[in-house]
Amino acid sequence: MTQPNEMNIERESMEFDVVIIGAGPAGLSAAIRLKQLSHRNGRELSVVVLEKGSEVGAHILSGAVFDPIALDQLLPDWKAEGAPVDTPVTVDRFYFLGPAGSLRIPNFLMPPLMSNHGNYIISLGNLCRWLASKAEELGVEIYPGFAAAELLYNDNGSIRGVATGDMGISRDGELKDSFMPGMELHGKYILIAEGAKGSLAKELMKRFDLDKDTEPQKYGIGLKELWEVDPEKHSPGLVQHTMGWPLDNRTGGGSFLYHFGENLVSVGFVVHLNYQNPYLSPFDEFQKFKTHPLIRNLFVGGKRIAYGARAITEGGWQSIPRLIFPGGALIGCSAGFVNVPKIKGSHNAMASGMMAAEAVFEAIVEQRQNDMLRAYTSAFQASHVAKDLKRVRNVKPLWSKFGTILGVALGGMDMWLNSLLPFLKYTLKHGKPDYATLSPAAKCEPIRYPKPDGIVTFDKLSSVFLSSTNHEEDQPVHLRLRDPEIPIKQNLPLYAEPATRYCPAAVYEVIEGADGEMKFQINAQNCVHCKTCDIKDPAQNIDWVCPEGGGGPNYPNM
Ligand SMILES: Cc1cc2nc3c(=O)[nH]c(=O)nc-3n(C[C@H](O)[C@H](O)[C@H](O)COP(=O)(O)OP(=O)(O)OC[C@H]3O[C@@H](n4cnc5c(N)ncnc54)[C@H](O)[C@@H]3O)c2cc1C
Ligand code: SF4
Repeated sequence: MTQPNEMNIERESMEFDVVIIGAGPAGLSAAIRLKQLSHRNGRELSVVVLEKGSEVGAHILSGAVFDPIALDQLLPDWKAEGAPVDTPVTVDRFYFLGPAGSLRIPNFLMPPLMSNHGNYIISLGNLCRWLASKAEELGVEIYPGFAAAELLYNDNGSIRGVATGDMGISRDGELKDSFMPGMELHGKYILIAEGAKGSLAKELMKRFDLDKDTEPQKYGIGLKELWEVDPEKHSPGLVQHTMGWPLDNRTGGGSFLYHFGENLVSVGFVVHLNYQNPYLSPFDEFQKFKTHPLIRNLFVGGKRIAYGARAITEGGWQSIPRLIFPGGALIGCSAGFVNVPKIKGSHNAMASGMMAAEAVFEAIVEQRQNDMLRAYTSAFQASHVAKDLKRVRNVKPLWSKFGTILGVALGGMDMWLNSLLPFLKYTLKHGKPDYATLSPAAKCEPIRYPKPDGIVTFDKLSSVFLSSTNHEEDQPVHLRLRDPEIPIKQNLPLYAEPATRYCPAAVYEVIEGADGEMKFQINAQNCVHCKTCDIKDPAQNIDWVCPEGGGGPNYPNM
């Protein structure tokens, strides 16, 4: 069947029972659960997963300390079946850093729910690759290299499906010889599993007012490097977190450092995107962190293998939007299920995918389609995911309001209280959305970062090279400015155009043209799809939309 799109070009369409957008832990768990239910009940269902990365896992970036609670429920024999989940956490350390020293917080002071006992250090990308192979064995169709670029609606306003992006359109919008129109995928239900700040979820949020009664979603930017270190310095199973230096007391965030596999260390740094000083550069804070005396020596003599960045949802319980809309549901970090103090969301993403799948299966068995999946909302409210998020709901607001030292101490007390007295009801608010927290540049101190040493610290461009990001250059820019004048006329004088610093991939530059005029340049081919610009631009002038499918980073095992 062919359908005309907005350019009046006919496109093919395909019918499925369920269309899932995104092959992350949420999308793949939903797909697997759907097929398990369909095989168990003798009711064949067609399930398709679209993934914008060139392969499953190519766009996945996480820590990752992994809680197997949801994997145990999804594929109980995962150990025997060879899941890449094989470095158990053996040591858990937590430090507060000052410029030259560090203070270890004793484990007995940490609330029990912060413990990583029973968890594993993994590459989430590799776990997704494995989950995809399991899904395909069960009959799920997975199409990597295809971005879902457009939502399709029925006449009654419910979601009918999605269309993949057209391929072969030039930067100026002309059709090239290689032009291939997108394809429509229609489904009885559509599950949105795009991860933090997805482009389709953003449209759905607005169209169905999904976040009308909730606090604004909060985010952090997480930067990560994968290193191969000297075997003498490698301690498989060691998990180390820090907070404090180099961030000041008013800027939330911290580091993670996980030893796993064959001499591999995942090191990363999260900066909460409600920071105020527009001169702050999360990338440079990360590089500076690695120069701390507690940290630097680990990497001397080692080799940096990969680099990347990704936004992480931080709003938690009070920012969860309405999960359902006519014809579909938000799952995983499209809704935002990260437990912030634990920096863990993949187990909750998987569990939400399974719950949504169960609601979809029940609906299809009842001969329903394109309606509200209320059973998913009820299952979520009663789930361990809701319990997990409720107990830590006040930590992020306390941190934002009182700064790192007092806020984290109060957050710790609040977690103890909520663990011991789970009936406590008070919920603190987050306040402003992250784009509204910058102070004018004129009121802030510029921050001078040290030059990279090429041993443990590096510049942005050599880092972007290690993300293996790649986009067809002659295609429309996928970072759309609602008003092209704003960066130079408004953001530059007011905030010294922060995009040049918050973007971890040197996509945005302010350059002086031959005529002496300042110009805003977008190097879209460098983009690593972290979505920070869509979140932090103070004028909310940047819309991140999907580039041609297959474009973006090619993370090996992040
Ligand atoms: C730096 C960092 C460290 C973290 N550490 C941990 C940790 O240690 N432990 C833990 O449990 N969690 C951690 N998390 C959180 C965890 O990674 C997320 O909660 C989890 O990945 C969410 O899974 P998801 O399936 O919802 O989304 P994602 O993992 O983001 O997957 C979404 C997928 O959808 C694809 N996609 C998006 N839009 C489209 C589209 N329109 N069309 C087609 N495909 C699309 C993406 O390419 C991607 O493959 C961390 C996150 C970050 C950023
Ligand atoms: S352009 Fe935006 S999404 Fe791309 S890397 Fe930069 S901040 Fe991230």
